Amino acid sequence: MGVILVHIAGTDPAPWIDELKRQDPALDARGLDAVDDPAAVEVAITWKLPHGLYRTFPNLALIQSMAAGVDHILADPERPARVPVARVVDPWMGRSMVHHVALAVLRWHRRMDWLEGQRADATWPTDVIFDADAVRVGVLGLGHLGQAVARAMQGLGFEAAGWSRSPKAIEGLACHHGPDGLRDLAAWSSVLVCLLPLTDETAGILNAGLFGLMPEGSLLVNVGRGGHLVEADLTAALDSGRLEAAALDVFGTEPLPKDHRFWADRRIYLTPHIASEINPVTATRAFVENIRRIRAGQAPVGLIDPAKGY
Ligand code: NAP
Repeated sequence: MGVILVHIAGTDPAPWIDELKRQDPALDARGLDAVDDPAAVEVAITWKLPHGLYRTFPNLALIQSMAAGVDHILADPERPARVPVARVVDPWMGRSMVHHVALAVLRWHRRMDWLEGQRADATWPTDVIFDADAVRVGVLGLGHLGQAVARAMQGLGFEAAGWSRSPKAIEGLACHHGPDGLRDLAAWSSVLVCLLPLTDETAGILNAGLFGLMPEGSLLVNVGRGGHLVEADLTAALDSGRLEAAALDVFGTEPLPKDHRFWADRRIYLTPHIASEINPVTATRAFVENIRRIRAGQAPVGLIDPAKGY
């Protein structure tokens, strides 16, 4: 049995290695520094492994993303095409994402920032009206996370609809697809939640053209990837009032640079890529299962299609 390489850019992999060994003591899990023979690496469990390294492991049998997205892996131009790539599929992540999106939507809908602002002059506002019927949540991406979010929004009593690449029939949920479907969904949505993978087709999808279709005073929630958003277009849409607020969890550059203008923009709710935290115990369970599957000659759970990019 080969080495299980664990690499998480900017983070000590030791707790993950310990958890892998706790769940399966037979596993030879190591960080990059402890790999003395590249030919021994059988599985790479990674978040942002430096480009060019995958190709140095001649016996690599699986690239397992540490995340639900695989854009950080597919972006490596030297990644060996023969090696299957899998993403994390873990119900824990869906629950976490639901909590995060619900918080952003309710913060906007219940006007929490405005109410908090009343503290400054100790004013008790009397004209507080919440129009829940006006909250129509459009979810871009109807995969594992997008469907969970759409259902949760309905559970909160809001209308929800979604958009995917292929046509879908999901009971009780209006499903759109294709360019016309995107236009229809944007024109309907007072809240747009991006839960797409970052691919050639979806990069820059959150742009002026899309915002221009949305009703005045809408909310944008980007929990997909920073590359989905054209940042200058967001600022213009906020300035024009087309968007009233935006909740951003992901950014073109992470961590968000200290001099980035978003830090000072109170219309933007900022979080540091924590919408769907990865749980070490449940995610490791998924990794152990995929190692078992690869060794048994079976397809891993969460196998992605490199041609589609997700
Ligand atoms: P998933 O199950 O693979 O679902 C992806 C969805 O996007 C599918 O419904 C797919 O359509 C749709 N899609 C892909 N390309 C499209 C296109 N060109 N046009 C329209 N729809 C398209 O992925 P997931 O697990 O839900 O995760 C979604 C994304 O969330 C990840 O890729 C990642 O970027 C992001 N994410 C963020 C965090 C965070 O903490 N901020 C955490 C986890 C994940 P089909 O159904 O037709 O294939």
